[in-house]
Amino acid sequence: MQDWERELFARELDGFVPPRVFDSHAHLYRRVFFRNAAPALVEEGPEAGLETYLRNAADLLPGRRISGLFFGYPHEELDLPANNAFVASEARRDPLSRAQMLVTPGMDAGEIHETVRRQGFVGLKCYHVYASEKPTFQAAIPSYLPEEQVRVAHEAGLTITLHMVRPRAMADPSNQEVLRTWAARYPNARFILAHAARGFNPHHTVEGIGALRGLRNIWCDTSAVTDGGAFEAIVRALGADRLLYGSDFPVSQMRGRCVAIGDSFLWLSAENTRFEAAYADLRPALIGLESLRVLKLACFHLRLKDTEIENIFYCNAAVLFSLE
Ligand SMILES: [Zn+2]
Repeated sequence: MQDWERELFARELDGFVPPRVFDSHAHLYRRVFFRNAAPALVEEGPEAGLETYLRNAADLLPGRRISGLFFGYPHEELDLPANNAFVASEARRDPLSRAQMLVTPGMDAGEIHETVRRQGFVGLKCYHVYASEKPTFQAAIPSYLPEEQVRVAHEAGLTITLHMVRPRAMADPSNQEVLRTWAARYPNARFILAHAARGFNPHHTVEGIGALRGLRNIWCDTSAVTDGGAFEAIVRALGADRLLYGSDFPVSQMRGRCVAIGDSFLWLSAENTRFEAAYADLRPALIGLESLRVLKLACFHLRLKDTEIENIFYCNAAVLFSLE
C-alpha cells in the first residue's frame, strides 16, 4: 500500500475489519506453470506462494491473523497438475488454510476423487475459460462445471467456487435453474458463488439472488466486488451466515474499481482510464481496499451486529471448512 492508502485504511477500515480473517478467495501460482503466456498480473508477481500471499495480505490488513482458501489462477496455458500440487503443498503449511483443486470439464470423476484424496483438497474451482462453448463468457454452467463433478463434490463433501458468466450472471434464468436444481439434488456439495454471485453489476445479484432463497448449501464470497448493493441483497436473501470475505489476491493488489455501467460493468484502471480531475488529486486505490469499503457500507446499511461482521470475515468460513 502507498502511504495515502494506509491512511485511508486507518481512517475508514481499521475499526471495521475484525482481528481474525479467513480469505475465501485467493490465487496461488508460479510463473513457470504457465506455458507460453501468463496473465499480465502473474508477470508482475511471478511467485505467489503462501509467503507472498501472507506478506501482501498483511499489507492490506495490518495486524490481522490471516489464513485462506487457495486455488490456482485459471488460464488456458496453465499446467494444472503442477499448479494444483503447488497450491496443495503451500496450503498444508498453515493449519488454518485450505486448498481447492482447479478442474477442467474434461476431468473424470475418478481422477478428481483420487487427486482430492491424495492432495487433501477441500473443494473444486472451475472456470469458464475451459468451457467448450464459445465465446466462453456466454457459457452455461454445465459447460464448465459438468454435473458429474458436482456429484463428486456431493460424495466427498467438497466446496465448489463458481464464478458465473453469461451477461446477466445471477439474473440469468438458466444460471438460476441449474443452481437451484443441483443444490437440491446434491446437498453435500457446497457452492461458493464468487464475486457476490458475480455481482460486478450489483443489479444482477439484486434481481436474481432470491431464486436461491432457502438453499442451505450456497454461500457467496465478496472478492473483488467494488460497487454497492450485491452484498446487501445476498444477506437479505440468504442470511449473514452465507457471506464469506474474499480478496481475490492478486487482483486485490491492483488499483481501480469495477463499476456497473448500464446492464453490464467495467473495470476501471490506469490502462483504460485517465484518472485526472480539476477538483482533486485523483488516485485509484487498491481493489482490495475498495472492496472492503463496499463491504463496510453494506454492513452499515444492514445494521449488522459485530458478531455477524466477525462471522463474514472468519466464522462462516470456519464452520464451512471445519477450521477448529
Ligand atoms: Zn479469482
